[in-house]
Amino acid sequence: MTVDEIRLLIANDRIDKFYNRRAWRRKSKQILKRDNNECQIHKRRGGYARARNVHHIKELKDFPELAYDDENLEAVCIRCHNELHPEKLERFRKKEKEFTNEERW
Ligand SMILES: [Zn+2]
Ligand SMILES: [Zn+2]
Repeated sequence: MTVDEIRLLIANDRIDKFYNRRAWRRKSKQILKRDNNECQIHKRRGGYARARNVHHIKELKDFPELAYDDENLEAVCIRCHNELHPEKLERFRKKEKEFTNEERW
């Protein structure tokens, strides 16, 4: 996937398509292995948690050219990852609310 293609996905709010790509799955597996399946944020705080996600240190939407850059990727656990992306949770909550309203009507 080229940087322009990623930019297009970002513009269309379809970044999920990037994460579903085989190239990303392969890359994230490689990063999890590199980081020993250990959450790097927990590790920096002197703790341990099993990593499940791979995080873009410089956000994908701001730095699509770093999408597959090893230096920009780190293994994180789901809890830390959610803390890193509060805006995603917010959006999810909003969607849920809208959905509830729809149901009511
Ligand atoms: Zn992330
Ligand atoms: Zn963590």
